[in-house]
Amino acid sequence: MITRMSELFLRTLRDDPADAEVPSHKLLIRAGYVRPVGPGLYSWLPLGLRVLRKIEAIVREEMRAIGGQEILFPALLPRAPYETTNRWTEYGEGLFRLKDRRDNDYLLGPTHEELFTLTVKGEYSSYKDFPLILFQIQTKYRDEARPRAGILRGREFIMKDSYSFDTAEDGLKTAYHAHREAYQKIFSRLDIRYVIVSAVSGAMGGSASEEFLAESPVGEDTFVRCLESGYAANVEAVITRVPETLPTEGRPEAVVHDTPDAPTIATLVDWANSAGLPQFEGREVTAADTLKNVLLKVRAPGGEWELLAVGVPGDREVDEKRLGAALDPAEYALLDDADFAKNPFLVKGYVGPKALLANGVRYLVDPRIVDGTAWITGADEPNKHVVGLVAGRDFTADGTIEAADVRDGDPSPDGAGPLVSARGIEIGHIFQLGKKYTDAFTVDVLGEDGKPLRLTMGSYGVGVSRLVAVIAEQQHDELGLRWPAAVSPFDVHLVIANKDADARTGAEALAADLDRLGVEVLLDDRKASPGIKFKDAELLGVPWIVVVGRGWADGVLELRNRFTGETRELAISSAATDIAATVG
Ligand code: ATP
Ligand code: MG
Repeated sequence: MITRMSELFLRTLRDDPADAEVPSHKLLIRAGYVRPVGPGLYSWLPLGLRVLRKIEAIVREEMRAIGGQEILFPALLPRAPYETTNRWTEYGEGLFRLKDRRDNDYLLGPTHEELFTLTVKGEYSSYKDFPLILFQIQTKYRDEARPRAGILRGREFIMKDSYSFDTAEDGLKTAYHAHREAYQKIFSRLDIRYVIVSAVSGAMGGSASEEFLAESPVGEDTFVRCLESGYAANVEAVITRVPETLPTEGRPEAVVHDTPDAPTIATLVDWANSAGLPQFEGREVTAADTLKNVLLKVRAPGGEWELLAVGVPGDREVDEKRLGAALDPAEYALLDDADFAKNPFLVKGYVGPKALLANGVRYLVDPRIVDGTAWITGADEPNKHVVGLVAGRDFTADGTIEAADVRDGDPSPDGAGPLVSARGIEIGHIFQLGKKYTDAFTVDVLGEDGKPLRLTMGSYGVGVSRLVAVIAEQQHDELGLRWPAAVSPFDVHLVIANKDADARTGAEALAADLDRLGVEVLLDDRKASPGIKFKDAELLGVPWIVVVGRGWADGVLELRNRFTGETRELAISSAATDIAATVG
């Protein structure tokens, strides 16, 4: 069927929407692909829906190719299964909770591990039923703290989520690798530039959980790579390379100094360099010689707030995402003045390990603070610092935490070379869950030997609606969108740029021929100026633009490539077959 611009439900906008920051958001709205309905909520208009459906179809095809079977769960779910796994609570404010008329609790599903697990438990009971991969392409709900960037981060969005069920570890590994390869196929069919990064710090070099990140400067995820070894990880998952411990014996005693003009790390370093400290003879004191203690309060799901101090070298900041990932599922907040007032042993700006440990505050430090390292840090009194406080001699923290920022040039955890960072958008996530959910719901099947076997699971997600924006983000130019052929709403955008009746009739005939050849045609048959039509064609981003223009009288029309800008003249007589061959 030919789609006519004169009838298409579409209004393009000349100006960027006021609240849009990232290019994909601006362009998808200007080009009439989506419209905002509320924060993080968008409606799909005809063009956007065509792209979305094509992406869905590719995802579905590749999932079927690895043996996945499609099912569909409701988005509206009862509380009980999520209560069993404690996610009703753990999900915190990210979960949309609601009540029915009988006052029963419900939620809008943010992800469906519980339902898949229960469904498999209900249907299958023997080892012979496995391996099994189930998937759905379904609407998810998350009350995101910062819905932003249009459909990149929605509060309602479409995800492909799949789950593998196996009776043994090797089966899980096989399913995981099948997904990994399926995702590689999906993203390469979509022409997305991406990297696969390790997502869980626990499994250094392992593959228990990996993320697929589309490379993009507007991405919310930061990842690092070691070009020498190929190590790649989300910064949340980077493990600090731990320095060698040093001897604690024979080191000078820690000394408390008056430091009246040193309320910040920078001023403290200046003071230390002018104080003639014997430890630093012959070398400059830097911020890396200081130990900064950041005071937080932390609350486990459903629990009470507790104090936590995080110690990092003074040349580093606490990275919110790394801290969040390290503390997950607990939430945290910085201590405010009222909290300091309630705990007078915490001298703001001068908090040192001594007061923390003496008052039972949980104290976690950066892994670089190994035994034998000496620090300049707070002395727990106003305007006083202590110099030469040695870890393992003068204080011992309760443990380490990966919360300090990761920087370009930091050593790769595998020791192969420096790390370089870049930004990305998470488009997929594969995760060897193991028995977390099958334990919670006691999902056993009968093994070959007649004994019960606990199933092991994997969970795998692709952000289907997010992909529309990711492709727009990676492929656009200053004129508008540019769709790879595989997902473009149409194969050809045929522009009538000639008022002549013959040319018009000819263009209609060409559109009909193309349609017969299986080419999806968007025909701009509007009574608008050629200038407006060309601008819209560039904005909408169909990869091939055919122009029936002045050349018509001479028997030629023009074929433009939206990506390269190259144009070619085609003879009208063979245009339909030539175009079909080019765009097919
Ligand atoms: P993020 O870190 O971006 O919040 P996530 O780790 O919470 O994502 P998963 O639970 O792993 O996401 O969900 C699987 C996939 O769903 C993600 O890889 C992402 O592509 C997509 N996704 C997650 N949240 C959103 C959202 N708010 N809007 C659109 N897509 C999303
Ligand atoms: Mg994820």
